[in-house]
Amino acid sequence: MVATAERETLGFQTEVKQLLHLMIHSLYSNREIFLRELISNASDACDKLRFEALSHPELMDETPALAISVEVDEKARIIRLSDNGVGMSRQEVIDNLGTIARSGTAQFLSQLSGDERRDAQLIGQFGVGFYSAFIVADRVEVTTRRAGLTAAEAVRWSSAGEGEFTIEACERQARGTTVELHLKEDATEFASTYRLESLVRRYSDHIAFPVMLHETGKEEAPRAVNTAQALWTRPRAEIEDSEYVEFYKHISHDAEEPLAWSHHKVEGTREYTGLMYVPARAPYDLWNREAPRGLKLYVQRVFIMDDAEQFLPLYLRFIRGVIDSAELSLNVSRELLQRDAHVDAIRKALTRKALDMLEKLAEEEPEKYRTVWREFGEVLKEGLAEDFANRERIAALLRFDSTANDETEPRVSLADYLGRRKEGQKHIYYLLAESPEAARASPQLEMFRKQGVEVLLLTERIDEWMIQHLREFREAELKDIARADLDHEDLGGKDEDGLDETRDKACAPLLERLKKTLAGRVQDVRVSRRLTDSPSCLLLSADEPGIQMRRILEASGQKLPETLPVLEINPSHALLRRLEGLEDEARFADLAHLLLDQARLAEGRQLKDPGDFVQRLNRLLLQE
Ligand code: ADP
Ligand code: MG
Repeated sequence: MVATAERETLGFQTEVKQLLHLMIHSLYSNREIFLRELISNASDACDKLRFEALSHPELMDETPALAISVEVDEKARIIRLSDNGVGMSRQEVIDNLGTIARSGTAQFLSQLSGDERRDAQLIGQFGVGFYSAFIVADRVEVTTRRAGLTAAEAVRWSSAGEGEFTIEACERQARGTTVELHLKEDATEFASTYRLESLVRRYSDHIAFPVMLHETGKEEAPRAVNTAQALWTRPRAEIEDSEYVEFYKHISHDAEEPLAWSHHKVEGTREYTGLMYVPARAPYDLWNREAPRGLKLYVQRVFIMDDAEQFLPLYLRFIRGVIDSAELSLNVSRELLQRDAHVDAIRKALTRKALDMLEKLAEEEPEKYRTVWREFGEVLKEGLAEDFANRERIAALLRFDSTANDETEPRVSLADYLGRRKEGQKHIYYLLAESPEAARASPQLEMFRKQGVEVLLLTERIDEWMIQHLREFREAELKDIARADLDHEDLGGKDEDGLDETRDKACAPLLERLKKTLAGRVQDVRVSRRLTDSPSCLLLSADEPGIQMRRILEASGQKLPETLPVLEINPSHALLRRLEGLEDEARFADLAHLLLDQARLAEGRQLKDPGDFVQRLNRLLLQE
C-alpha cells in the first residue's frame, strides 16, 4: 500500500485536456449547469450503492439513509457537494476523473473548430459531466471513499483543470464523495444559498434523494430543497414539463431537450411504470451494433441497471427512459431478463406506447416529427421487418419523398398518398433510385406525371429491403413502376379504342430488328406505355433484385446472375422514327446500342462497356 499513499501527479488524457481548455476559455453562457451535473453524479452514486447493497447489505450498515448535501461557504467562496453513495477507489478515481470513458469523445472533440460560439454550443449538446466543475472553479478537490473500504483507504484528487491532477491517500470517516469547488472570482454569484437553492429546484428537483442545503457556520440545520421523490412515481398531472426535461437530461446525459415523452403506470398483475423520451438528436453511435441502448431499469424504485435493452425492440433503440417494475426480482440480471415472460409482456406494451407517442407527435407537432424522421427514420424502417404485429402502424409513421413533393426532404406519408389518389387508382406506386436527383429524372415517371399520378421516390439504401416487407398498406398494393409487370390499367387505363394495339402492330418489324441487334443484351424489346418524352427505358422482371439490392449484394461480395433487362421504346420519339427507316445495318446497330445504354444512364446506372459506348457515339457524331 506504500505506493498508493504517495502523492502522484498525473496528466489528463488528451481529450480531457481539450475539453477542459474549451470549457474554461469558451464563453459559457450557461455556467450554472455545473450544479446539475454534479448532483446528477451524486444521485447516480447513491443509485449504484443501493444496487450493490442488494447483494452486499453490509455496505449500507453505517448510514442507510442516502442523501446529497450542498454546503456553501459564502465568505471563502467554496461549495462542497457531498453524497454518501458508492464512492470511488483510487483506481476508479484515476479512470473516471482523468479520462473520458464514453467512447466517441475523440470523435466529438474533432468536430470542434476553435470558434468559441459554435464550440460552446456543441459542448452544450454533449453533456460535459464532472468536468463542468471547472466552468466555475479554478481548483477542484474530490475526497472519496469507496463503500466497503476503510477510512484510511480514502483518496484525495485535486486539480486546477490545467493539464494535470494530483492524487493521494487520505482519511475519510464516511463512505461517499465530496466535491469541493473553489469558485473563480467571476463565479462568486454561486456562493449563495439563495442562488443554489433556486438552481437545485430548477434543475434537480426530480432527484430521488434529498438534496440538503446548508451554509457553513450557520446554526440552522441543513434542509432538503428538492421534492426527493423519484419523478416517475409522481402523478403526471403534478409534473411540470420542465421537470420532465431535466429528468431526461439526468438519465440520458444528453444536454438537449427531448422532443416528446410518454409516462404511464400499469396497475394489476403486471405492475410497472414507464417513462419514455424521444431525443432530438441521434447519438453518433446509432448504427453501432455494440452501442449501449435501452431503458434504465428500476425494480420497486431501486436502480438495477442502465441500458436494459430487452424492453424495447431494436427499431426503437433511440428511445430513452426509465422502466420501474414491481414484479421483477431485485436480483434480476441481463441473462434473466432475456428469458422472463414479464419482460416480454412489458416490451409489447411499451412498444405500443412508444408508437402512440410517435403517432401523436406526427399528428400534433409535424415540425417536431420531421426532426424525428430526419434523425431516426432509417431506424424506424427496420421495424417493418422486425415487428410484424405493428407493421401497419409503423408504415403509417414512414415519410417519403414523392413526385408531389417539391422539397427533397421526405415528407409524404402513405396516408397522405392515399388521400391524394386519382379517381379509380387502386395502387400505391413507387420508384427505387440511387438518389433523389436520379429518381426525379427517371423516364419511368413520364406517364405517371402526365396522368397526374403520384409516385413515391425511394432513394435510401435500405428502401428496397424495407419495401419488400410492406407489400400493402390499408389494402392498397405497393407497386414498383420499374417492373415489367405493370398493366395497362396502371398506365393510364384500358386500350378501349384499340390505338395501342394498332401501334404495337405497326411497330412489330422494328421490335424484331432491335431484338435481333441487341440479342444477348436484352431479354425483350417492347413498345412502352410509360414513356412520353424519352426514347427508351429499362424494366426489371418481377423477381429480380432492384438497383439498391443489387448494390448491397455486390458490396457484400455476392456474384449476381446476370439477368437481361426488358427494353421499352417510345415509337413516337424522333430517334425511333429515324431508326425505323434506317437501312444501313451498322448505323442501325450503333443507334440501337445507344438507345439501350442511354436508358441505363438515365437511371443513374453505370455502363458495362463505356468504351464501346463512346466509340459508337463518336461514330454517330462524325457522320455528316
Ligand atoms: P457520466 O456521469 O456521464 O458518467 P461524468 O463526467 O459526470 O460522466 O462522471 C464520470 C464518472 O465519474 C462517473 O461515471 C462516475 O463513475 C464517476 N463519478 C463522478 N462523480 C461521482 C460521485 N459523486 N460518486 C462516485 N462516482 C462519481
Ligand atoms: Mg455525470
